[in-house]
Amino acid sequence: MIAPEDPRYDEARTVFSGAIDRRPAVIVRVADAGDVAHVIAHARETGAELAVRSGGHSGAGHGVSEGGIVLDLAQMRALEIDADSRTAWAETGLTAGEYTTAAAAHGLATGFGDTGSVGIGGITLSGGVGYLVRKHGLTIDDLLAADVVTADGELVRADADSHPELFWALRGGGGNFGVATRFRFRLHELGTVVGGMLLLPATPDVIAGFVAAADNAPEELSTIANVMPAPPLPFVPAEHHGQLVVMATLAYAGDSEAGERAIAPFRALAEPLADMVRPMPYPEIFPPEPEDFRPIATARTLFADSVDRDAAETILEHIRAATAPMAAAQLRVLGGAMARVPADATAFAHRQSRIMVNVAAMGMQPDEVALHEGWVANLADALQQDDAGAYVGFLADEGEKRIRAAYPGATWDRLAAVKATYDPTNLFRLNQNVPPAVV
Ligand SMILES: Cc1cc2nc3c(=O)[nH]c(=O)nc-3n(C[C@H](O)[C@H](O)[C@H](O)COP(=O)(O)OP(=O)(O)OC[C@H]3O[C@@H](n4cnc5c(N)ncnc54)[C@H](O)[C@@H]3O)c2cc1C
Repeated sequence: MIAPEDPRYDEARTVFSGAIDRRPAVIVRVADAGDVAHVIAHARETGAELAVRSGGHSGAGHGVSEGGIVLDLAQMRALEIDADSRTAWAETGLTAGEYTTAAAAHGLATGFGDTGSVGIGGITLSGGVGYLVRKHGLTIDDLLAADVVTADGELVRADADSHPELFWALRGGGGNFGVATRFRFRLHELGTVVGGMLLLPATPDVIAGFVAAADNAPEELSTIANVMPAPPLPFVPAEHHGQLVVMATLAYAGDSEAGERAIAPFRALAEPLADMVRPMPYPEIFPPEPEDFRPIATARTLFADSVDRDAAETILEHIRAATAPMAAAQLRVLGGAMARVPADATAFAHRQSRIMVNVAAMGMQPDEVALHEGWVANLADALQQDDAGAYVGFLADEGEKRIRAAYPGATWDRLAAVKATYDPTNLFRLNQNVPPAVV
């Protein structure tokens, strides 16, 4: 237990987002499900706000409470990989990078996101959109079971047969239903990928061409493309620093020769400014991250049906006029295995969404965040088409309307019913909250 007078307090209350600066009454670093149940009981009895934290990457800062209790799961990091059955039991304190590196030692992988330091707890409960999304679907599509301590302190196993409604809700419903102590994942055979960064000049044709190529690519290929000013990194030729580029990471999960063929259309869009795409062990797809990196950003997530030349022009115009030191529009073309799962099979309902777009302004001081929110909203509004959904994993603290966009229609009602069963008093409320249905 770490209280404000403890020398570890400042480090222990720190989360990934540099915009969040909250002072909890206590941070409890738990070792097992029994500890989790104790902390839950204390929160229930005192009424204190409870923050549940795995990797601490929540953009809304839900991993830390002002004045309440932080349940810090980061030390629960046991991992049991059964290579024969291609399954793993992973405790929630592991990061995506740690899990991926350990699984790769067996030539196996489960897909998470684009960043190694993200906690498997938060990303799994959100859905999980990453470099295997088109080939193997979301992280939750490989989730076979979860052990969960519920609001009354009971440890239950949720899977297809046991607590099936809870299992449905955990797959995208976030931290609303209890504290997941560990997850059972399916693993896929995956050794080398053809992957890495491709840097192209950002013109309307290149951006629209990139999205079209990603849409037409075989499902083995998933891509994440950032339209942004070129950062002054060593591999970016100095004359291009600050110029608008498409900084993309591509990952082809399959045979190297076929991978090279799949990537050729992207290389043909323009003379690459840098081309680091090559066969590599899958864990290398996560770039190294500086220790103490705590970015300050404001962002909005949406889904688009298409990004054509006009939309690309809009992105470029807005980024040229950005108010923040760094601004970006991130494009993730979806489809493939993710889209073959029925929309009502999990609490992540956006199976038919075509492209995820994340608009972000970065690099400001904490007290300047509000100044750039208008820019973010303007570009997000300009790119909005018919798909009114949102991905819960990228929501900031945006209010109920946006949480309802993440859980449209029947999904919200079903989540509220599950919430009423497992957390009727809304003990788990510091999250993208779905209040319990009134029964
Ligand atoms: C740099 C960065 C890159 C990202 N990239 C991707 C990406 O490529 N794809 C993607 O899908 N998402 C991505 N995300 C979003 C990320 O998946 C979510 O922010 C996720 O919630 C972070 O998980 P965490 O465990 O690190 O965060 P935390 O802040 O620890 O947790 C977030 C919330 O999840 C809930 N939670 C976490 N663990 C548990 C648990 N064990 N039991 C119950 N509730 C729990 C709690 O409500 C908690 O407040 C990214 C985020 C960042 C900051």
